[in-house]
Amino acid sequence: MNDSLILRIRAALAGVINPATGNNVVADGMVEGLSADAQGRVRFALAMKEGASREIAETLLAKAKEAAGGVDGVGAVAAVATAHGGGAKPPQGRPSPQASASAHANPFGLQQRPRVREAGESMSGVKAVIAVASGKGGVGKSTIAANLAVALAATGLKTGFLDADIYGPSAPTLFAIKDKPAMKDGKILPHEAYGVKIMSIGMLVDPEKAVAWRGPMVMGAVRQLMSDVDWGALDVLIIDTPPGTGDTHLSLIQSKRLTGAVIVSTPQEMALADMRRGVSLFRQTGTPVIGVIENMAWLEAPGGERQYLFGEGGARRAAQALDAPFLAAVPLYPDLRQASDDGQPLAARDHPGADIFNRLAGDVADFIKRA
Ligand code: ADP
Repeated sequence: MNDSLILRIRAALAGVINPATGNNVVADGMVEGLSADAQGRVRFALAMKEGASREIAETLLAKAKEAAGGVDGVGAVAAVATAHGGGAKPPQGRPSPQASASAHANPFGLQQRPRVREAGESMSGVKAVIAVASGKGGVGKSTIAANLAVALAATGLKTGFLDADIYGPSAPTLFAIKDKPAMKDGKILPHEAYGVKIMSIGMLVDPEKAVAWRGPMVMGAVRQLMSDVDWGALDVLIIDTPPGTGDTHLSLIQSKRLTGAVIVSTPQEMALADMRRGVSLFRQTGTPVIGVIENMAWLEAPGGERQYLFGEGGARRAAQALDAPFLAAVPLYPDLRQASDDGQPLAARDHPGADIFNRLAGDVADFIKRA
């Protein structure tokens, strides 16, 4: 069976709301016997709750067919509404019209449990969860987060990396991951590279569609990445969050799983204002700020002198003013940009930049031990 196609169909079906409960048909456990063959022929049954009117059954079935039919790779959809569920075998049907596959608070709809899942439910084996955040995009947050994860794994800690940057997922590039994740027993199996278990929201949803997601959808996606991925036993899970302070951060904070947050900023004043907001959000909600990292701190000219393209030491001074630890200054390294594009993290190489990431990992590991 094509697991990734099934996943995407489930995500599409999770956009179909059952008016009787206000939940989507996947979360309500109504989708049964979902299958897809190699030709993209999809079959499923929609198990109606007892007492559901014929009109509701017909409307929901039509919407579900339309949603499934809108998924890339789906050729034909055959679906039936059943009164009592129980593994009905839907017949072959005609292709349904294209439709946009919307999502909602349970966008992947991986499981059919009727109750609301608690965030981090299957993360009982994860000891520490650290969010890497930044006020602005493009400051190198994902680059730092991925290299920090690789350096942490090299210290011997069992490490995971969750790329929750829903609007610009970069883990697939940073770790050169091309395949969709496999599934086992209803759980998503993370990829593994450089000793790190890796999962990216970009492996499950199309970022171009996610751009239009509203708060509950983002929160649902983050919750599912925490609860539906088979993280196993981890000493630390690094979470790469979207830039700014938005729904993903609130969702993580609400999950009460964050051990601490690391804030990445470039040195110039415009980035620092946003960085201060990030520090204040985490502090106000009781999440310890492990410290601040200044990225793109300077460029080393061939002669060895430092060129401070974005000003000198701005993030360090801002960290001091906020009474937050200053963890590291990472220069602009053309090698770091190249390594990131090649999917070979610099932290795993013999390079002055790797030394910085190793020291950073040591500090973060110390924080975890004390936490
Ligand atoms: P963000 O996650 O903040 O949006 P990224 O990590 O995607 O930022 O980085 C943006 C770009 O800058 C990427 O091309 C990345 O390779 C590059 N980059 C980040 N940090 C550095 C650095 N210290 N030296 C050179 N290039 C960097």
